[in-house]
Amino acid sequence: MATPDISIEFFPPKTPEGAEKLRAARQKLAELHPKYFSVTFGAGGSTQQGTLSTVLEIQAEGHDAAPHLSCVGATRDSIRAILAEFKAKGIRRIVALRGDLPSGYGGAGELRYASELVEFIRAETGDWFHIEVAAYPEMHPQARSPQDDLQAFARKVQAGANAAITQYFYNPDAYFQFVDNVRKLGVDVPIVAGIMPITNYTQLMRFSDMCGAEIPRWIRLKLASFGDDSASIKAFGLDVVSGLAERLIAGGVPGLHFYSMNQAAATTAICQRLKG
Ligand code: FAD
Repeated sequence: MATPDISIEFFPPKTPEGAEKLRAARQKLAELHPKYFSVTFGAGGSTQQGTLSTVLEIQAEGHDAAPHLSCVGATRDSIRAILAEFKAKGIRRIVALRGDLPSGYGGAGELRYASELVEFIRAETGDWFHIEVAAYPEMHPQARSPQDDLQAFARKVQAGANAAITQYFYNPDAYFQFVDNVRKLGVDVPIVAGIMPITNYTQLMRFSDMCGAEIPRWIRLKLASFGDDSASIKAFGLDVVSGLAERLIAGGVPGLHFYSMNQAAATTAICQRLKG
């Protein structure tokens, strides 16, 4: 099966050991020839330097790299300074987000939504950056209604986003339905599917509770039945996620964006399965 473009996401490592492990993972993942690697950004700027230094390291290795940038808790001046730094370092691609502040962290900031961030980036830097935004096939957890969320998504694209990456999901119909719905609103940018490999049951349940991604009952029950048997969880996870990716590819998905969790094995195994 011909695989579409892939991209691979990392978070900035917090320790020298973490940085070393990420280098090793990246070397392995580079063999998959991703279109680019992206690096997350801690809301409120908490990982700002870590995000930039990881992106620069990836660039120095000869790969395209995109920092994520979130606006929650930020001022226009602080975002302007970050954009200037990105531009000076030759960065041409950004994943633009609102972000989520940990509770008790302070005010929302001057830009309330990702659409306002995209508008600001375009006003400040014109067409310099290729901008990706987030999409939620199963609805963003804070949205007032599915229709409101679709409108909010369309606004981000109208503000100047070039493409979107979805939150992860395990039900391909949610993706296809979302794409149909936004096309009806006149949105014609590529909508890349976010793919979360399944390797750890507890971690997956925790993330999914936070971000509103649904784990279908049959997947949940099966994973729970494996208990601490990590090899069975990984083998089942590989079957489920490769099957999901195959259905997405058959349905014309323009790209797959892997939430690698800074690990190479699961993403590599899925891509090998898809090629095989
Ligand atoms: P928005 O698009 O601004 O939407 C947020 C909410 O506001 C939605 O409920 C939307 O319906 C609503 N809304 C939007 N506009 C309006 C309006 N005008 N009026 C009323 N309601 C409105 N988080 C990080 O902190 N760092 C990262 O690096 C990061 N990377 C991510 C990468 C991807 C691919 C994805 C899918 C998510 C990522 N996130 C990251 C998480 C993201 O920041 C959260 O999901 C956050 O809650 C929403 O960000 P957003 O950019 O989608 O926000």
